[in-house]
Amino acid sequence: MSFDFIKSCIFEFMSYFVPQKVKYKIEGKCLKCGKCCRQIRCFGLRNNTELKFMQFILPHYKRFFITGKDNEGNFILSCKYLTDDGKCSVYNIRPKVCRNYPAKSISFNAQMIDGCGFNIVKKEFKDYL
Ligand code: SF4
Ligand code: SF4
Repeated sequence: MSFDFIKSCIFEFMSYFVPQKVKYKIEGKCLKCGKCCRQIRCFGLRNNTELKFMQFILPHYKRFFITGKDNEGNFILSCKYLTDDGKCSVYNIRPKVCRNYPAKSISFNAQMIDGCGFNIVKKEFKDYL
C-alpha cells in the first residue's frame, strides 16, 4: 500500500471524528446532473487492494465501482445506485458522505467537477483577521 493511500485512509477516518481544519465557502446550487456520483475522485486510491481495504473499513464504498483513473493515477469511481437519468435510487437512505456533499470543510484541496452548479470560494488569510 502506498503512503498516499495510508494518508487518505487517515484523513477519511479523521473526518468522522474530529473538527476539520480547512474551510471553504460553497456558493451556488445543485443542478441535479448526477456527475458527482459518476465521477468520484479518490485521492490516494490507486489499486484494487486499496479499494477492497476501503470497502472493508467503510462498507458504503461497496456501492462504488471503478470507471477510470485521473492524471495522477487516482481511481475515478461511479455509484451503482445512480439511475440513467442522474438520480439517486436510494436517496432517502444515502450515506452521510452523500448527504453532506459538498462538504463545507475538508482535509484536501477542494475542487468541484466541471459543470457542477456549486463553486468553492477559498478563504484567504485576511478573512480570518
Ligand atoms: S455535480 Fe454538482 S450539480 Fe451535479 S448533482 Fe453533483 S452537486 Fe449537483
Ligand atoms: S448513494 Fe446516491 S447520492 Fe450517494 S453516490 Fe450513490 S447515487 Fe450518488
